[in-house]
Amino acid sequence: MLQLILGFLFAAIIAVAAWRARSLSRSGAWGALLVGTLIFGLGGWQWAVLLLAFFVSSSALTRLFAKRKAALAEKFDKGGQRDIGQVLANGGIASVFAGLNFFFPHASWTWTAFAASLAAVNADTWATELGVLNPSMPRLITTGKPVERGTSGGISLYGTLAALGGAALIAVLAGLVRPAGNFWTVTGIASLGGLLGSLFDSLLGATVQAIYRCPQCDKETEKHPLHTCGTPTVQVRGWKWLNNDLVNLGCALVGALIGAFF
Ligand SMILES: [Zn+2]
Repeated sequence: MLQLILGFLFAAIIAVAAWRARSLSRSGAWGALLVGTLIFGLGGWQWAVLLLAFFVSSSALTRLFAKRKAALAEKFDKGGQRDIGQVLANGGIASVFAGLNFFFPHASWTWTAFAASLAAVNADTWATELGVLNPSMPRLITTGKPVERGTSGGISLYGTLAALGGAALIAVLAGLVRPAGNFWTVTGIASLGGLLGSLFDSLLGATVQAIYRCPQCDKETEKHPLHTCGTPTVQVRGWKWLNNDLVNLGCALVGALIGAFF
């Protein structure tokens, strides 16, 4: 009970700080309070280290090169405030495994699943934020056809290296602060889960994710019903219900399942 209360207080401090720094919207801060309380309160300090590494590194990358990114792709011109949908898509699966750790305190699969899930969303976030800086146009993961920067399912050298770095950061930390097991096993499993999870994200983005077009800007976008310019967007491909948040949730879930399985 004490750990849960401390977890709540720690999560509240971080949620308020991130909201004031404009990394989170108001709803995003409520989401972070929930995710943070569960992970800090039911997991413990090791779990907090991984969540903070994801949160701090992805928020920092969103801000880094913000001007250059705004000039390169439309999806970066909103300042990068995460809302509750994005927070739960990225941290929801990890919270579930922190909860399972409470019921199975001697299991090792809860930790590897948790770590692999965060490695996957971290890889995806890093790839999105840094991939747009790639000097040439990205190529669609399924067909290899060059596509506009910021297109879902597009991959590039910078993006792929960023995904490797994002997964490795979480995986190495997971190995270093592991509650049980050996460093290389934990790090290897979390890296694998992270990379395959972010690969799954790109595959969904290139195939069945709902993609829209803004008739005003003549650009492909994930935004619906309104584009950032305020114009209603029209669907051009994918399953209508499969929005970007659900794709990120899928990325986190694939990472977690690989982490739990191995
Ligand atoms: Zn527009």
